[in-house]
Amino acid sequence: MTNTDSIIGIECHVSLNTNTKLFCGCPLIGSEEPNSRCCDVCIGAPGSKPVLNKKAMEYALKLCLALNCKVSNEVIFSRKTYFYPDMSKNYQITQYEIPIGYEGFLEVFGKKIRIRRIQLEEDPAALIHQGNTVLVDYNRSGNPLCEIVTEPDMTSPEEAREFLKRLLTILNYIKIFEIKNCIVKADANVNIKGCERVEIKNINGFKDIEKAIIYELERQRKLLKDGQAIKEKETRGWDSDKGITVFQRSKESEADYGYIVDPDLVPIDISKELVEKIKKELPELPPQKALRYQKEFKIRNEDAEVLANDYELTELLEAAVNRRIEPLFAAEWIRREVTRVLNYSKNELSKTFISKNLLDVLELIQNNKITRQTGQRLMELLIDKDLDVKIYVKENNLEAVSNIKELEDICKKVIKENEKAVKEYLAGNEKSFMFLVGNVMKYSKGKADPKIINELMKKIINL
Ligand SMILES: [Zn+2]
Repeated sequence: MTNTDSIIGIECHVSLNTNTKLFCGCPLIGSEEPNSRCCDVCIGAPGSKPVLNKKAMEYALKLCLALNCKVSNEVIFSRKTYFYPDMSKNYQITQYEIPIGYEGFLEVFGKKIRIRRIQLEEDPAALIHQGNTVLVDYNRSGNPLCEIVTEPDMTSPEEAREFLKRLLTILNYIKIFEIKNCIVKADANVNIKGCERVEIKNINGFKDIEKAIIYELERQRKLLKDGQAIKEKETRGWDSDKGITVFQRSKESEADYGYIVDPDLVPIDISKELVEKIKKELPELPPQKALRYQKEFKIRNEDAEVLANDYELTELLEAAVNRRIEPLFAAEWIRREVTRVLNYSKNELSKTFISKNLLDVLELIQNNKITRQTGQRLMELLIDKDLDVKIYVKENNLEAVSNIKELEDICKKVIKENEKAVKEYLAGNEKSFMFLVGNVMKYSKGKADPKIINELMKKIINL
């Protein structure tokens, strides 16, 4: 569903998982005691001198290259002036004039979404609200962030959601951020033709980005229809509980922040050698992975692309291949069955027990120990139960009936009980035959392979 009246751009922040902060040696992880991981640089005390963490710069470069960006020749930092309790020095060190990466793109549903810029910046402190009091914790202050800004190239909420999902996949591949905190925080710039741009701040995760944009587009369409088109840029917040956007302020322009180049941080060259080295270190990214899946595993083009662009599904597929499960079978099962049960139960893979136990299910099917039907039932159970699949199959007597004699007996029983249907089948009624097969399946509790039953039935009836 693409609405040609919609114009959507995204800005999002990614926390880099370096050991130390962007401009000092304080650790990112450690004591959670407030203000225990900060120094003079973290709070911007007079005389403190920030020094760029080279690792953070390399991580940012990795991201730039993975998103097909051009890379700047040097890193220059600026001070973005603002007054707020989460920033004791009254400015944030960020990039303004020349970002580290620019003019990149990420492909979504076959369309290139252009990346305008990727910049390095420091995280502000965290504010803790306690009744009427606000406390400040500087542990987070100075953590390295990458801000990714797209051009307004997206035209539907689904595209925006898929963009974030694919971005997250790439972040997972290049391992520059903490996977456990894999919520990507994003702001969305949204407007329909005829309205000014509205920025929706602080949306968490890709489900909410889709919801927030759907809501905002509808709101703007209604205003436009009522002759109240939005004439001034504004910033709104996203209330996830209520599912609405809420007015915050008329948006200030970038010029209002009074950027100046930071005199404490001398420009640092980004050498061609460094860029080449990082390029070489990049892992296989989704487009190459999709191609390899097609070539190596003979997976259909479209399926290969869907799998390669979902980090969790890729991990499942590659684990299956390592367990000597036939890749095409595994790929189809992951693409169809895993997504079927997730959609049906409206669940996310990470919240189920599927990843943990899927390979056992696939192995049992591949070795004809259970039928596909039983496999499907197991998948449904794995949504909220952590089953030891092999034990469960044994204890509940779900092993496939492979004993032909046993199956023949069931077929004979069904034929005897349904003489009318047998006659109808012999007169050419295929539906009656399906009815007979269905009955055998019922008696065998889905544990028999329908293909074998088909053959057996025909053989016995035509004797
Ligand atoms: Zn520090």
